[in-house]
Amino acid sequence: MGWHYESLLITPEQLPSLLIATAAGNSEAASTVNAVCEWFTSMRSRKRGNGFLCLTCDDEFLASKPPRAIVVMTPMFPDQQHQPTVVSGVCRRCYEVKCMPDFEQYLVEAARMIIPDATIESTRRHQ
Ligand SMILES: [Zn+2]
Repeated sequence: MGWHYESLLITPEQLPSLLIATAAGNSEAASTVNAVCEWFTSMRSRKRGNGFLCLTCDDEFLASKPPRAIVVMTPMFPDQQHQPTVVSGVCRRCYEVKCMPDFEQYLVEAARMIIPDATIESTRRHQ
């Protein structure tokens, strides 16, 4: 049985609505904001050559060069056997060239680079 993930693609333009949902008590939004904040905190502390790479290329993120978007993949049925939430940056080029024509297909292909038998049951983009 493959692992089932729910994927989100989050851009800076969508952050306000995510924060509003968090403030309104939406626990799913809160856990997403928490995961993204942890990722950014770790990304900002890394030096050149040891930074996080783009989900689908070797572009490196630094405090001075943040990602264009963030992908958050959350196990739909979390347990000991499933990998925890996966958070990754997407560089501007991958966002514009690979992501924008069909972001749902991009998320499926990206998830399978990390987890070959992953199934993306639902993909959403915060608007
Ligand atoms: Zn990239």
